Amino acid sequence: MNFRKNLWPKTAGDAASIVFLLIIVPVIYWFELWVVLPQLFPSGSLLYLFHFTLGTFILINIVGNFTYTVLCDTSTRSLILPWGKGKMKEGWRFCVSCEAMAPPRSWHCQTCDICILKRDHHCVFTGCCIGHFNHRYFLMFVLYLFIATVYSFYYNNYFIWGRIEFQFPMSIVKLIFPLASFAFGLDYSTDQLYLMLYVISIVGMGFTGTLSVYHFQLVFTGAVAHERVKKNSKYDLGWRENVKNVFGERWYLTWILPYFESKLVGDGITWRTADSENKNWKGK
Ligand SMILES: [Zn+2]
Ligand SMILES: [Zn+2]
Repeated sequence: MNFRKNLWPKTAGDAASIVFLLIIVPVIYWFELWVVLPQLFPSGSLLYLFHFTLGTFILINIVGNFTYTVLCDTSTRSLILPWGKGKMKEGWRFCVSCEAMAPPRSWHCQTCDICILKRDHHCVFTGCCIGHFNHRYFLMFVLYLFIATVYSFYYNNYFIWGRIEFQFPMSIVKLIFPLASFAFGLDYSTDQLYLMLYVISIVGMGFTGTLSVYHFQLVFTGAVAHERVKKNSKYDLGWRENVKNVFGERWYLTWILPYFESKLVGDGITWRTADSENKNWKGK
């Protein structure tokens, strides 16, 4: 893996989103395993240990996949690219900003100020672009965030509604504006803090759920975001090959931990297309 040289967020929006994530993930982890869990299962019981282990496993996946997404350089920076007349290969284009040739499916990111191999999008929560080499880690990062929030939501319901009495209309206000009622001094109680974390995890569940469905659909159809917009299915090689293109040869292991190596099939520069595959198949 090539490492990115400058990891600092490039915009205020990126910085704010990363800071939010770096605070909220450990806080929710503490809330679920040190506050909610001991209230639902006796400390040291088999079920307590099971949920503690599973919760920690999910956290390791979130942190690991986040770290790899951020560290991985998926730009054209480290490539030796053809330059000049006569070197133009099919599908390549000249990037005016980089003043260099850029391979098919790469796209220039204005924030990162470089062309990204098979660029999907710029992610504000990691402060970097998602492209060919970190696509796998980004997808697992989002999926594990979604699993974590669904898991939390299920048990948080037992916890929250077992200790908070519903009072109309104040409970509605506190539920809809948990952060505001905490910040403006309406309620500084620990219960209000728990209610705020409860609401944040619900919003997170909606957000990461939508992202997971959208991005995994793209993976299965062999497209990136802007190719989907343009209804370009040129790189759709069937779901199995599409999955391999993103998760590598050992794709079935990548969900377990980010540390499992899975060599990517492509180099991010040359691409097999549905057309060329058809021709090869007919030629056999
Ligand atoms: Zn460029
Ligand atoms: Zn970018």
